[in-house]
Amino acid sequence: MASKVYFIKASVADGEKSISEKARKLFKAANFASCFEENDFTALKVHVGEAANNTHVKAPYIKGLIDELLALKTKPFITDTSTLYTGRRRNAIDHTVMAAEHGFSLDALGIPFIAPDGLLGTAETPVEINAELNKQVFIASGIVKCQSILTVAHFTGHPAACAGATLKTLGMGCASKKGKMKQHAALKLSINDNCTLCAQCLEHCPADAITLGRTKAHIDPDKCIGCAECLAVCRFGAVKCNWGAESIVLQKGMAEHALGALKGKANKAAFFNFILSVTKDCDCFGHRDMPTIVDDIGILASADPVAIDKAAVDLVEDKAGKKLGRLLDNNELDPRHQIDHAQKIGLGSADYELVDVGSS
Ligand code: SF4
Ligand code: SF4
Repeated sequence: MASKVYFIKASVADGEKSISEKARKLFKAANFASCFEENDFTALKVHVGEAANNTHVKAPYIKGLIDELLALKTKPFITDTSTLYTGRRRNAIDHTVMAAEHGFSLDALGIPFIAPDGLLGTAETPVEINAELNKQVFIASGIVKCQSILTVAHFTGHPAACAGATLKTLGMGCASKKGKMKQHAALKLSINDNCTLCAQCLEHCPADAITLGRTKAHIDPDKCIGCAECLAVCRFGAVKCNWGAESIVLQKGMAEHALGALKGKANKAAFFNFILSVTKDCDCFGHRDMPTIVDDIGILASADPVAIDKAAVDLVEDKAGKKLGRLLDNNELDPRHQIDHAQKIGLGSADYELVDVGSS
């Protein structure tokens, strides 16, 4: 049977209050109240955006969802894990301050921001999944230990994973640093002779993994964390990756970590994809006003993390009239690898029914 994916048309121009009410309407239409019980510790997984990023899902957009969780007498907390790279979200303290600066704070939203992977991103719980690439994955302990989860994903492109939505939010976004490293280890980047020594990649590399040689830049594989920022910033096509193999392994790894993040939470999880301000790169890229690659579409909600991402990709590609890889200027990228693998390992179904709950 097809999984239901609930949809409501929305755009940033609607304003924060209207978007918040639309998300709340989806919560009710999807009957998500049945996923949450009184006194549940409920993780409300978001991405608060890197320092200058202003295209992430804004804090006021989730106010209606928080009100719903509070009305159900759960104990919700806003949450996100530490990053591998050296931005403003690398440890719990910087991340909490960053979250507050972007409005994700107790003062602004009435519930606290709590890093689920501890001070340094190392508080993890190994989760047995016995999947194709990973027998065991490393998930933030606060995610494993809470009783229920509601994820708010911002649908974006990604230079390595192609799509960032619910599966990436669960897989990469709920993994500890070790779990993230395992996923990113799939990416082995190199620099070819197109390099002009412009040094842009050096400035953006969060791991100080790039040096300039006499004729081209070099990546130190021991330092590289596979974040793909150098790929995104190089204007000369000099940073190379074997997409055929490596993006597929990354996407499969993400799906397997998503399976670990949801283990023990059958019928205790609700997922939202905000298809607003859809940018080529994800919200870890700390740039202001990143250009969008498709007009705003709306918000999706589902209890099936595979169906919701399949529906999001279909809506974006239909609206743009192009495959997502093409929108990202890389025909070799295909988000179906994460969707197909997630379906194969039992996370959900790519077969979905879109239910329009209307915008009235
Ligand atoms: S951004 Fe590209 S061209 Fe510039 S130094 Fe890095 S690899 Fe070379
Ligand atoms: S992928 Fe590129 S930018 Fe990221 S750590 Fe490796 S060399 Fe640096």
